[in-house]
Amino acid sequence: MDSKQAKQWMQKTAIRMEAEKDELSALDQALGDGDHGVNMARGFRAVEESLDEWDELSLSQLMQKLGSTLVSKVGGAAGPLYGTAFMRLGAAWKDVHQVDGEAWMSGMAKAVEGIAQRGKTQAGEGTLLDVWSPVAATFTASEPDWKKIEAEAKKGMEATEDMVVKKGRGALLGEKSVGHLDPGAVSSYYLFQELANLMKA
Ligand code: ADP
Ligand code: MG
Ligand code: MG
Repeated sequence: MDSKQAKQWMQKTAIRMEAEKDELSALDQALGDGDHGVNMARGFRAVEESLDEWDELSLSQLMQKLGSTLVSKVGGAAGPLYGTAFMRLGAAWKDVHQVDGEAWMSGMAKAVEGIAQRGKTQAGEGTLLDVWSPVAATFTASEPDWKKIEAEAKKGMEATEDMVVKKGRGALLGEKSVGHLDPGAVSSYYLFQELANLMKA
């Protein structure tokens, strides 16, 4: 992935979050306060609107801007978590202009570490980390297998339905949180599905 493809990824994700806005918010009605779709659509709309302004930036700087924009525009719990993930990618890709398997692998490991620290969480607690973590683990030093990455993201997202949510608003429900997909895991699945579709093409 180069910076041109990274910008295409952001555009595709902005369109997708807008399209899935109501569904994501409905999922958040079951486990939280019903705003996740609105938050994500607002955040990625702001990203999309900034893309022209970010035209001269390096890939690393672009990821940093994406991260900081998501922190401030998505807001709530998800903004700082998504934001941290992209800021970690930006830091990991300091001198990277074309992200290969190795750079994906090391960058995503840092992103997952950032989410875990920021959210005081680990995989298995019914959050967006349950998508980011298996996706990160799927990258290897060779050419990314985008079909497999999409499949792992989907599996991670679906697995949240059977989990007792341990972090975020959903945790307030205790055992009653079982039986619902985590909204942040679903939006993360869309993010990686858009990436896989773009990179496969
Ligand atoms: P809020 O809960 O503030 O309204 P959102 O609805 O936008 O924020 O985002 C909720 C999502 O954030 C959850 O579905 C979950 O995936 C994620 N989340 C919340 N708290 C945490 C946490 N501590 N660690 C990881 N993910 C979290
Ligand atoms: Mg919410
Ligand atoms: Mg909220």
